[in-house]
Amino acid sequence: MAGAQPFLADGNQELFPCEVCGRRFAADVLERHGPICRKLFNKKRKPFNSLKQRLRGTDIPTVGKAPQSKPQPVRKSNWRQHHEDFINAIQSAKQCTLAIKEGRPLPPPPPPTVNPDYIQCPYCKRRFNETAASRHINFCKDQESRRVFDPAQTAARLASRAQNEVVIGNTEEKLLAF
Ligand SMILES: [Zn+2]
Ligand SMILES: [Zn+2]
Repeated sequence: MAGAQPFLADGNQELFPCEVCGRRFAADVLERHGPICRKLFNKKRKPFNSLKQRLRGTDIPTVGKAPQSKPQPVRKSNWRQHHEDFINAIQSAKQCTLAIKEGRPLPPPPPPTVNPDYIQCPYCKRRFNETAASRHINFCKDQESRRVFDPAQTAARLASRAQNEVVIGNTEEKLLAF
């Protein structure tokens, strides 16, 4: 009758395997362990990947297909972004000199990297850093709503309000009073 029993720890806690390292943990422990384990696992793989990336970048003069397709880690540090821009600029400059020397067509310039930390204003499409963005977007929204309710419409609204007040005198004067 009693088939496969679930793994039981000292209490009545069932254990679950970590999908990264395969060790078993109680549910609440696994919840904490999982992200840490995954992070460690990724860290371990990094050197190998970057070495491969470097070899690909230098050995083969890839024209047209630039080795820029590595996944961008969403990090908060700006210096890293600047650093990568800098490296990219040097790389593309090298490619250009090489192309000129060999009489090949010039490689296209690297695409302008968009800072992932920046937030785009949905109204004017400009980009701002986090603190400036929240301030600006509020401001821009205000501007936008003012633009939507253009003076003609506002005047019409005021005029209808004036009419409701039965004062059928000079609406223009009334508008000025508002
Ligand atoms: Zn693990
Ligand atoms: Zn804006």
